Amino acid sequence: MESRKIFQTIRKQDPDRFQVQKDVQNVVAKIRAEQRQGLTPMQPLENVLINNDFIYETREEPGTEIVTEIFFLHRDSRVMWRAFPHVMLIDATYKTNLYNMPFIQIVGMTPTNKSFIIAHAVVSKERGDNFVWVLERVKSMLDECMEPRVILTDRDLALMGACAKVFPDASRLLCRWHIQQNVMKHRKGAFTDEDWKNFLSFWGTLIESPSIPIYEYHLRNMRKRLVECKRSRVFKYVYDNWLKDYKEMFVFAWTDKRRNFGNRTTNRVESQHANLKRYVLDRSSLDRVVGCVRDIVETQFGEIRKTFRESIEKTMKHHKHPMFQHLLGKVSHTALDLLHGEAIRKLDVLERFHSSCGCQMWHSCGLPCACRIEKYMREECPIQLEDIDVFWRKHNFQSCKLIGDDVDVVEELDIVRQQ
Ligand SMILES: [Zn+2]
Repeated sequence: MESRKIFQTIRKQDPDRFQVQKDVQNVVAKIRAEQRQGLTPMQPLENVLINNDFIYETREEPGTEIVTEIFFLHRDSRVMWRAFPHVMLIDATYKTNLYNMPFIQIVGMTPTNKSFIIAHAVVSKERGDNFVWVLERVKSMLDECMEPRVILTDRDLALMGACAKVFPDASRLLCRWHIQQNVMKHRKGAFTDEDWKNFLSFWGTLIESPSIPIYEYHLRNMRKRLVECKRSRVFKYVYDNWLKDYKEMFVFAWTDKRRNFGNRTTNRVESQHANLKRYVLDRSSLDRVVGCVRDIVETQFGEIRKTFRESIEKTMKHHKHPMFQHLLGKVSHTALDLLHGEAIRKLDVLERFHSSCGCQMWHSCGLPCACRIEKYMREECPIQLEDIDVFWRKHNFQSCKLIGDDVDVVEELDIVRQQ
């Protein structure tokens, strides 16, 4: 009950008891403090974390007991993260009601195309060293495990810098959707709705350029068009801020030459965030968020286990092809679906249009692309298991071990084949 209402009720019953509303507020504050049994605000949260099977770490301002950073992950998340450390997506949300501090969400992906929550953190400021602290916690959960091969972040440069420092070997990609949002925020005023639509279509074509010469062609084209319609400042903005230094992190000509397992946006995190928002009302306390994260993680764990069983035990009708005979029950249904799509594309691209393969599926997903499938077919040979990236071949929650793991073998083979 609010202090004001308590005051009104008491005044009706005993008009002389309290002189001013302030007295009531003081009494309420005192009772609440007693209820907390003298705990500091951090302790109830710590109790919630411990009681709900979370692992957590905090950082305090030097010389004080003021907590500035909190990192937490559920025990099941740790298991999933250690089993599937290949892909990591990070998103920092600033407009959060949680203590008005940036809220960081880290999400992973399974070979069955399921997302799972890895960890959450609340940091006092969006500063590089805060992000480094969070990422080091994430990394510490992977002791003796493989480290992520690809990391996707939103457009936050401090976050990107922290990723480069903590995970120097991973491919780092930027979310194309966030970049577009950023361009819109800074430059949409310069456009009419019609112009903006045209710009977006040019921008989309540019980002999706499959090769460097095609990118350069589209870049010249976009520049010419923007200059013609007196929008050279727009070109300057996107070029100086994004294309000049970061094109390798979001233009397909570069991003699809590296493993990304089909991730080009941080949408997986966004949808996890939406998931959380559905559970948590505005202005919820962090304790409540923790309870919701636990529920979501436990559900995800169960659902992922179910998709593993399906991939091992069930055969879908469109996977019953002699080409796939060595793969059934050994690679995920998601991988087989991608291969099936690629086999259909093979007919279109290679046969009908006589165009080149591009090999995007091979480089970005680690699955045979149209030209490779064509070769298998010509030789009447089923697709070999070794040609499938290890990512798609794991259907259990055992930790993904570092040494002797065939990840290296596959990458080595890739390099040899490319040569
Ligand atoms: Zn190819």
